[in-house]
Amino acid sequence: MASVLLQRPGALKVKLIKGDTVVIRRGKEKGKRGTVKAIFLKEGLATVDGLNVVKRHTKQGAGGAKSAGIYEKEAPLPISALQYVCVECNRPSRIKYRQGPEGKQRVCGACGEAAAESAKGR
Ligand SMILES: [Zn+2]
Repeated sequence: MASVLLQRPGALKVKLIKGDTVVIRRGKEKGKRGTVKAIFLKEGLATVDGLNVVKRHTKQGAGGAKSAGIYEKEAPLPISALQYVCVECNRPSRIKYRQGPEGKQRVCGACGEAAAESAKGR
């Protein structure tokens, strides 16, 4: 996997999109669920709302902070540690693709229900 990434940066197939419900498979937050807040494709990382929160001691003006203090912020998690959770059947599942009337459609691998699409159509 790593060698593929080196040869073709950004070519990793990321099926998750912002707004998906995911369950964390590894690390201290294992088993917890949350909503994908942001995806960093090049890094292969994603932040999940309310999970993997770290405290950042921030000086005034640093990182766009208006005032100094301790801020809580979601730290990015590896996308490979996240598994999609279907909103229809409430089960962790794989995302499959199905050819629909408007092109490829993301569907739940467990129940076949259509998954939410991103606004950008990615
Ligand atoms: Zn499902």
